[in-house]
This record gives sequence, C-alpha cells and structure tokens, in this order.
Amino acid sequence: MRLVIVGGIAAGTKAASRARRVDAEAEIVVYQDEPEPSISECGLPYLLSGVVDERADLVARTPEQFAEKGVEVRVRHRVEKIDPENKWLSVRDLENEGAFEDGYDRLVIATGARAVLPPIPGADLEGVFELRFLTDADEVRAYMEARSPKRAAVVGGGYIGLEVAENLCRLGMEVSLIEGEDRVALAYGPEVAERVEERLKENGVSVYTGAKVEEFKGEGCVRGLRYGGGDLEADLVVVGVGIEPSVELAEEAGVELGETGAIRVDRHMRTNLADVWAAGDCVETVNLVSGKRAWVPLGDTANQMGRVAGTNAATGEDTLEFPGVLGTGIFEVFDLGVGKTGLSEDEARETGFETVSAAVETMDRAGYYPGAERVFLKLIADRSSGRLIGAESAGSGADKLTDVCATAIWGGLSYPDLINLDLAYAPPFGPALSPVIQAASVLSGEFDRARRGVRAIE
Ligand code: FAD
Repeated sequence: MRLVIVGGIAAGTKAASRARRVDAEAEIVVYQDEPEPSISECGLPYLLSGVVDERADLVARTPEQFAEKGVEVRVRHRVEKIDPENKWLSVRDLENEGAFEDGYDRLVIATGARAVLPPIPGADLEGVFELRFLTDADEVRAYMEARSPKRAAVVGGGYIGLEVAENLCRLGMEVSLIEGEDRVALAYGPEVAERVEERLKENGVSVYTGAKVEEFKGEGCVRGLRYGGGDLEADLVVVGVGIEPSVELAEEAGVELGETGAIRVDRHMRTNLADVWAAGDCVETVNLVSGKRAWVPLGDTANQMGRVAGTNAATGEDTLEFPGVLGTGIFEVFDLGVGKTGLSEDEARETGFETVSAAVETMDRAGYYPGAERVFLKLIADRSSGRLIGAESAGSGADKLTDVCATAIWGGLSYPDLINLDLAYAPPFGPALSPVIQAASVLSGEFDRARRGVRAIE
C-alpha cells in the first residue's frame, strides 16, 4: 500500500508517523514544499528574539530522521494536482524545477493554512513581513541583522501579533501594536482584553486600537505606516491579521469544502473522495459546545487530527475518531498567561445560548506564599442547564485553570459539580480553594439571582 501525504508540518508528519506504526509494510511518502518538514511554527516568535536560539531547535525531525523510520519526506516538492479517479498526483520539484507524476493508493491532505496579507498599499515594501513559516522567520531575522531596525509596528492584536510584539521588545525595539477592532485579543471577552492591553502598555508597547492601517510608507524599504488616526514611524513591520486554509489543491480535485471554507471531513477525517483523508489547519471540525462547524487552526488539534487521519489511512478503516474541539487555547504575553476554552460570552449568545457568568480575581497560590500573583478567571454557563460552556483566564496559572475548565466542559459538568471538585492544594500551588471553585461559588450566586430575577450590582 502506498500512502502519500501532502504537507509535512504538524498534521502531515503526525499522520506519517502514525501510519508507520500501524502498518510496518506501507510505502509512506510526504511531499512538503517548504525546505524543512516537521517545524514547530508555534516557536517562531521566540526564534525572532533568541529565546529559542537555534533555528534547528524548531525542526522536530529532519528528512534523514524520517528516513530512518521508513518515511520518505521529499522537501521542496509541491503537489500541484490530484487526480482522484486515477489516483495520480502531479508534483513539482521546486529545487530542480522539474515536474513528475506519482501514484497513491491512499492520500492524506495536510496542506495547512497561510497568512493573509491584506491589500494595503505598500505591503510589498522591504521590511513588511508576515510570520507563518520558518522561512518567514528567516527573512525577518536576515532583515534585522542587515538593517538593525529600531522601531517595529505589529499589525494585528491576535495571539500571534501579541507574541511577536513581546519578542521584538525583548530585542530592545520600540514597538507599536495596531489593531483595527476596538480591543486586542478579540477572541476573548473585554475583561481579558483589558488585562492584556494593560500588560502591553506596562512593558512599553504603544497600543492603537480601532486603528485600520491604510498604507505602509517608504521608498524601497518601509519607513512607517498611516492608519485611521495618524502616522507612525516604523522600520520593521510584522503583519498578523489572520490566516486562511490552503484548500485550492483539494477543491480542484473535487474535495468538498465546508461552511467555514476549510475542507469538510467526517469524524474519521475522511473527505468526500474515496481513499482521501484530510487533517490539520486545512480542515474544519465541530465545536462540541455550540455543535456548529468550526475552523480552529491550532497545533495541538492538527496533531490530534493527523493521528486519526494517519491511522485510518493506514488501516483503510474507520479505526479512530476525532470528535471535535472545544476551542481551547493559550498564549503568554509579558508573563501574563491568557487562556480560553469553550465559548466566550459573545460567542455563546451568537450561538443561541442564554448565559450566566461570574468572574473572580484571586491569587494563584496561598496569598502569604512568596511570589503569589493575581489571576483572573471567568466562567460562562448555560442558563437553562447550568452546564459550563466557557472559561477565560488571565494571569499566573492560567494554563492550569484553562485545562481544568476544558476537562469540565468536556465532561459536561455544571456549576454545582465545579463547586465540589476535589482539586490539589498546597500553599506553593494555589489558594486553599481553587479559583475554579471560587468562581463556581460566585456563579452559583448569579444563578440564584437570575432565578429570582435580581440583577447583580455592577
Ligand atoms: P501547516 O503548519 O500550515 O503546514 C502545512 C504545510 O504544507 C506547509 O509547510 C505548506 O507549505 C505545505 N503545503 C501546502 N500545500 C502544499 C502542496 N500543494 N504541496 C506540498 N506542500 C504543501 N498553535 C497552537 O496550538 N499553539 C500555539 O502557541 C501556536 N503558536 C503559533 C505561532 C505562530 C507564529 C504560528 C504561525 C502558528 C502557531 N500555531 C499555534 C498554529 C500551529 O502552528 C498550526 O496550527 C499548525 O502548524 C498546523 O499544522 P498543519 O500541519 O495543519 O499545517
């Protein structure tokens, strides 16, 4: 059996490794258009600043290491066409500029996503970058080495923009962050966004919200930008305003896309075409809280999907399932952990939930214990059932709180269950009552008030 995988980062290489384990005899070939496979793109902002000092540290496995496991990874090879009837692929060798055809018995599409550069005049100036692949980070680093920029502008206040802003600050640059909407970290509620913005400002980042970039200015090289409210000087610009799934190859082959524009797959990661599976940032899945189709392009999800697609492609059967996601995510900006799972209050209302929510700001460990820091936690519950449907946190220990809440949502727990959770406690690790339990108690009070029709005092 010849298994071909298109795309060799998180989902593609995970699918290849799993297929190898499941079927020791299969021929497994991965085509990857970038120069390296298996890159930890999540580490790119930290490579810019030198927190990760070797680019090689971000390459989890080289083609040679894959070869030792019996997986052939052909880098700098782009699959240009899939012929599902004859099970043929057209492949371009980007190094030698040749093209050839290859056959498959089973195929996994893991073509991922790419950055969107909006059509802003001047976006093609030298010094204006996006950050998606390792090659993008190489370009930013080469530019910084050659030009020693002093003022950076980061366009986009999502988690990648925020991580990039922090890492450019680490290099001693004057950093401005420009966000078109009225707050940064838009996937979160306003309480978290305020904390993020405050942390940016405390660390010297100039934050411009509600500021749409209209033009990048400069001759040859970027020198600044114009936004709705004025002008900014900048000799380095990193744009992180969003990504889109890379689906053209699949779509041209007749693979069905879903309502989000990403590839539609079933719970076994099968596409609508026979013997073709898909996984990672190029596919959509289901948000298990809202029950709606969702596109959640994240590295852990890509790995989980790759595991399922690789296993099922190797067996040719529906061996494993990928049920969907909660949309759990986390990032850090200037030591502020920011995590989310399930739906934000806005998302919950848009989905049709009536919500009851409660927030606490408490300590991440016993208040008297050295190093205790504040942490914010908000719980969002479905008014009719009391079930937890979302949580957001910001501060020290946000990772733990996010994971506890994700597990609670996954298990269908409601607020009375949360109040009685038996969680670990000792002074260095948390307050005697976990922030989850504290927030659940406040939530319980909110439910009582909601039942009596009393509004909380703001
Ligand atoms: P991709 O990583 O997009 O890989 C697909 C590969 O396929 C690409 O190399 C592409 O060039 C190649 N390809 C496409 N078409 C073809 C073709 N026709 N032929 C051959 N090759 C092709 N996620 C988290 O969960 N946590 C984080 O902290 C986090 N931080 C991030 C920070 C940054 C700066 C970035 C950019 C991403 C971050 N992510 C994070 C997201 C995570 O990196 C992605 O979700 C993950 O890499 C998706 O893996 P993938 O294999 O589906 O797709």
